Amino acid sequence: MDHFLYRDGKLFAEDVPVSEIAAAVGTPFYCYSTATFERHFRLFDEALEGTDHLVCYAMKASSNQAILKTLAALGAGMDVVSGGEYARAKAAGVPGERIVFSGVGKTRDEIHAALTGGLRQFNVESEPEMAVINEVALELGVVAPITVRVNPDVDAKTHAKIATGKSENKFGIPISRAREVYAHAASLPGLKVIGIDVHIGSQLTQLEPFRLAYRKVAELTETLRADGHDIQRLDLGGGLGIPYERSNEAPPLPVEYGAMVKEELGHLGCEIEIEPGRLIAGNAGIMVSKVIYVKEGEDREFMIVDGAMNDLIRPAMYEAHHDIIPVVEPTPGEEPAAYDIVGPVCETGDTFAKSRTMAKVEAGDLIAFRSAGAYGAVMSSEYNTRPLIPEVLVNGDQFAVIRRRPTFDEMINRDTIPEWL
Ligand SMILES: *Cc1c(COP(=O)(O)O)cnc(C)c1O
Repeated sequence: MDHFLYRDGKLFAEDVPVSEIAAAVGTPFYCYSTATFERHFRLFDEALEGTDHLVCYAMKASSNQAILKTLAALGAGMDVVSGGEYARAKAAGVPGERIVFSGVGKTRDEIHAALTGGLRQFNVESEPEMAVINEVALELGVVAPITVRVNPDVDAKTHAKIATGKSENKFGIPISRAREVYAHAASLPGLKVIGIDVHIGSQLTQLEPFRLAYRKVAELTETLRADGHDIQRLDLGGGLGIPYERSNEAPPLPVEYGAMVKEELGHLGCEIEIEPGRLIAGNAGIMVSKVIYVKEGEDREFMIVDGAMNDLIRPAMYEAHHDIIPVVEPTPGEEPAAYDIVGPVCETGDTFAKSRTMAKVEAGDLIAFRSAGAYGAVMSSEYNTRPLIPEVLVNGDQFAVIRRRPTFDEMINRDTIPEWL
């Protein structure tokens, strides 16, 4: 459920008409709902009620500081995957002890910054990385709390580009080598082993792959404890999918996920950490765009809109589906049309949908891409020298621009011309 609904024939974001925001900030733009963010965070928090736990929002899904502050105020921790995200979380006021540092290639500088600024733990992805964390910790005279990310070799049954838990993926250490790697970690004086980490992929639409992975983690917990390691915390990653196509998808709910986690891991007495990104942010955002032209092709109609693949890359990158709706509610019984919905970028890949049936539109009409809150704005670029589009946050009957559209000059003036030109 989200808070983008029609009221009296107009699409609203909470209590604000989307057309009003469009008039104020121009198109295209991202629009987020505070109530939806809060609701999704709480669903996870409540799903793990009765178990010692922390929900760490995977901020790579949507990382504007206004969003981080909204979630942090509810008690969320943050899962960061780069030095930039770490700095952003700190800038938003998230205390170090609620920041988990994940990511496959943490650099010495990133490790240094996090150990200096404080963190909850590093989720270590390899032995070479473990060695560097140990070195930096010793240099600073501190002890780095770590988990090791194990790769359980399970099929997440999701898009290949976002599956991370098979042995051929670059993530974590093979679970078969875990005892050896933990023994090595325990021998390094700059590290303190506190738990195990796993994350098998994103946009999972079934519970079974999670269950298989967590069963392996439960077994490993017992083995490592028998080896003398103090395993207190299990970081289970994120990955729960959302219904991008509302009409025919029903991924498991957070409450079902939470029940499964308790079933598989509850007996171990560990603190449970989860890192949802997409499920918290995905349906909390839409991208609003304006129709520039409707063009008759040989055998189809093209709807050319002012948003493009540089603003929302998911369709081009993952063949992702987004429900696309008009901002003015279609009148019932109205004859629909089929459109290829495309952006203005000079690539055929700049196609949001093919032969999509929807209400007829005309140049100047506004449309909204639903479920665009996660992996939308954060993956945008200035390709074709198109400015990054604004982000707007709605809260009840108020809205605020939380990232404004840069001017052409601001974009262009970042270039510096060498002396010889
Ligand atoms: C991307 C990522 C997540 C979040 O995944 P979602 O599918 O957005 O929930 C969590 N943990 C790690 C380590 C990740 O890389």
